[in-house]
Amino acid sequence: MNTLNDLPKIDLHCHLDGSLSREFIESKLERPVSKDELTAPYDCSSLAEYLTKFDLPVSCILTKANLKEAVLDVIRQAKENNITYMEIRFAPNLSKNENLDYKDIYEAVIEGSKEGQNKYGVMSNIIICAMRHHSEKQNLDMLKAGREYLGYGICALDLAGDEAGFPNENFAYLFDAANNLEMPFTIHSGECGRVKNIKIAVEAGAKRIGHGICLSEDRELMQYCRDKSIGFELCPTSNYQTKAVMEGMEYPLRRFLDYGIKATVNTDNTTVSNTTMTREYEFITSKLNIAKDELVLLYKNSIELSFANDDVKNILVKTISAYEK
Ligand SMILES: [Zn+2]
Repeated sequence: MNTLNDLPKIDLHCHLDGSLSREFIESKLERPVSKDELTAPYDCSSLAEYLTKFDLPVSCILTKANLKEAVLDVIRQAKENNITYMEIRFAPNLSKNENLDYKDIYEAVIEGSKEGQNKYGVMSNIIICAMRHHSEKQNLDMLKAGREYLGYGICALDLAGDEAGFPNENFAYLFDAANNLEMPFTIHSGECGRVKNIKIAVEAGAKRIGHGICLSEDRELMQYCRDKSIGFELCPTSNYQTKAVMEGMEYPLRRFLDYGIKATVNTDNTTVSNTTMTREYEFITSKLNIAKDELVLLYKNSIELSFANDDVKNILVKTISAYEK
């Protein structure tokens, strides 16, 4: 009898800083850290409060060696959950400093990703995050430097941070630049902001939406996203913590799948949200009525929606076919 942990999994929405293990953080800070310092409470008041938990882990990834080791740390944990492929995202501008330029940063995370595959057999790509509170120049410089590595370890762009405070209409410059550079993108939208943010992101060319919890408020948009096969990266534990989904409210995964939306289930931040892919699967099977064969569907959705190349996708198809036999 296979357990949920045995099932092959794909995590398309995993933040590097929010998923660093306690051991990694303690080794870099050279002091013990408490759970409260690392993990947002389940009854967190908002996304803004949730985001305060990132300062500590970010302070641990300010050198080339630490960045590489951080990627390896996250991949090691992924292996324990039988993750076959993951897209690890991080904000290069949070690590950039006078001793570390973009080239150092990108080389470090790509080396970590490659070594992770050799050491743990987990394939991965890196998504680079623009930050909502950063300047246009910072975000564009980061994007242009990262574009050089597209297809060589970096697979896409994202936009992260306080969605309610900095809505998507402020970022036309970023979406235009990504389109001009032929850089695919997924955008955090409709997490704790308005459904309009999803509409703006999709119309600007986003292939995937981070969270997109409030999509069902706009039936027309929902239909559009289904017809265009836009991917939705749901992260249940995190969505409850940030109040994207209120306690007692229906979690949208069941509705999305029934409607034909390409939904996926992911961790967001394994440490800040105190979760793992296996725990997310336990939650959706026990609380959301998701059947075992639908976990296979989620995996297939993740393959289709991933920013991986065809060689990687073909390997992933084989892993799930072998499991289905
Ligand atoms: Zn996220």
